[in-house]
Amino acid sequence: MKNERILILAPHTDDGEFGCGASIAKFIEEGKEIYYAAFSLAEESVPDPFPKNILEVEVKAATKELGIDQDKLILYRYKVRRFAQFRQEILEDLVKLNRELQPNIVFMPSLNDLHQDHTTIAHEGLRAFKRTSILSYELPWNNISFTTNSFIPCSEKHLQAKINALKCYKSQQEKNYASEEYIRSLAVTRGTQIGTKYAEVFEVIRWLM
Ligand SMILES: [Zn+2]
Repeated sequence: MKNERILILAPHTDDGEFGCGASIAKFIEEGKEIYYAAFSLAEESVPDPFPKNILEVEVKAATKELGIDQDKLILYRYKVRRFAQFRQEILEDLVKLNRELQPNIVFMPSLNDLHQDHTTIAHEGLRAFKRTSILSYELPWNNISFTTNSFIPCSEKHLQAKINALKCYKSQQEKNYASEEYIRSLAVTRGTQIGTKYAEVFEVIRWLM
C-alpha cells in the first residue's frame, strides 16, 4: 500500500499532537514522510504572561520532539475562532497543499468536532482531499459522537514522544486534557479495545486501498 507521505491538518498548533502524536512518532520511525500544517497561532488567546508568538515557538519544539522535519512544518496565521469567515481562503490553501504534496493519507479533526475552527478544517479538508484516504483523529473533549473504527497501536516509546511533545506547550498546561495521566489513560483505553497496551483511534472518512 502506498502510504509514505502523510499530511496532518491541525486547526490550532497542538491539535495534531493531541490527536495523533504517538502515531506520528511511529510513522517517522517507519521512515514515512510527515507534513504538519497548523492553521492558527492563536495569538489572540495566549494567556498572560506568555508572549503572543509563544505557540509558534512551542509548535516548532513539539513537532521536533516527534521527529518532524522543520521544513515540513507549515504554519498559517488565521485568527482563532474566526476560521468560518475565511472558509474559502482556507479551502484554497488546502487545495494548494494537495497539489504540492499529493499526500497518501490525511489526518484531520472529526466532521462532528464541536469547535468552530475544527469544523471548518474538517469540512474544507474533505473538500480538498476528497480523492485521498482521510482519517479523523479523536479529541474527546470536542466529540459528541465518534466512531472508533480504525486503530493504530503504539509502543511506550511512541506514547512518550507524544507526551514530551505536548509538554512543549507550556502556555497550554492548564487544560485538563493536557495532563500526562489523561493522555496515558486514553491510550490505554484505545489499546484495550484492540488488545494492545496503547493505541490511538481514528474515524475512517475515506479509505483508498
Ligand atoms: Zn484546536
